[in-house]
Amino acid sequence: MLNKKSIDDINVKGKRVLVRCDFNVPLQDGKITDENRLVAALPTIKKLIADGGKVILCSHLGKPKGEPKPELSLAPVAVRLSELLGQEVKFAADPEVVGPNAKVAVEEMKDGDVILLENTRYRAEETKNGEEFSKELASLCDVFVNDAFGTAHRAHCSNVGVTKFVDTAVVGYLMQKEIDFLGNAVNNPQRPFVAILGGAKVSSKISVIENLLDKVDTLIIGGGMSYTFTKAQGGKIGKSLCEDDYQEYALNMLKKAEEKGVKLLLPVDNRIGDSFSNDANIQIVKTGEIPDDWEGLDIGPETEKLFADAVKDAKTVVWNGPMGCFEMPNFAHGTEAVAKALADTDAITIIGGGDSAAAVNILGYGDKMTHISTGGGASLEFLEGKELPGVAAANDK
Ligand code: AMP
Repeated sequence: MLNKKSIDDINVKGKRVLVRCDFNVPLQDGKITDENRLVAALPTIKKLIADGGKVILCSHLGKPKGEPKPELSLAPVAVRLSELLGQEVKFAADPEVVGPNAKVAVEEMKDGDVILLENTRYRAEETKNGEEFSKELASLCDVFVNDAFGTAHRAHCSNVGVTKFVDTAVVGYLMQKEIDFLGNAVNNPQRPFVAILGGAKVSSKISVIENLLDKVDTLIIGGGMSYTFTKAQGGKIGKSLCEDDYQEYALNMLKKAEEKGVKLLLPVDNRIGDSFSNDANIQIVKTGEIPDDWEGLDIGPETEKLFADAVKDAKTVVWNGPMGCFEMPNFAHGTEAVAKALADTDAITIIGGGDSAAAVNILGYGDKMTHISTGGGASLEFLEGKELPGVAAANDK
């Protein structure tokens, strides 16, 4: 059970509060094309303003590789945040992030004011968790709040290093929500607990499969990774994605699931194409019967029903990874069927970040899910059972 201090456990009145947010938003010609991350950060920021804190926001944006890159400046974020909050968010433009502008801006703050620092990755030390930059960030504040789940699996200056030099380090509402759902619900789930894993490769989900096999009642495996299992079981998979080195591992997982009494469901049919294209000719075939020149690009209709039935009576469902090449509409049926099944169930539904989160939102089921994680890599590491440095660095209750 993760029990971290949050912004509800501290008094920030008159204090300088440095908040690590995840403002890593997509930009096109200086315009923010998806502002979900800004909206998600608002509850924490509003609470700190209401409590009379001096709110100093920071974040990374893209990969400027340790030097100022104007196209990756957080300036447009300050403009949009001002609009969303209905009050000025002053942008402290400083190529070295904690420079003269930032220092003066902080000195001039009144209670309830908000400023935004420049992209933390303008500094090369940031991703190396260097001491100097960590100290500089800490020097700006009395209290540190981490609300950036998307980077919680990394130990950087602005989410981990800084905590060494401040007495109070707590989590924000967004981070708390991720911990509650991904961490505590996965470790202490309401049963039956069903996990659905998809995506391209077995190799990238090995630790997740191993960890979840100890916790779930049913494990569903779809997507490109299922063909390695099919081939390992002697089935014909044509040109489908396959990791030959992982066939033995796949067989071991099947054995392990049986030993642990976990129901492991694999596709029973597949939607296949004669090329990797939305315009490919399409057939539905039984699993293990894919002709030589064809490839499995989605689960088939019988599998859609099988997977949907498996989540019907679940109490907790965690989903990570699409069921097929959902970027191509003709091969998005399986992913959509799973999204719909999750939208229809009464279970607590938790969507790991990355592709499955994108798919659920694109398909219009976003508001039907209990929780959609804001962190792709971070949510995967949570599901692997790893301790995330960004979470661990916050004070315990
Ligand atoms: P991952 O990052 O491992 O979750 O994989 C996501 C990617 O897997 C998406 O881009 C999907 O298009 C891809 N994918 C899912 N199913 C298949 C498949 N049957 N063949 C090829 N790629 C797939």
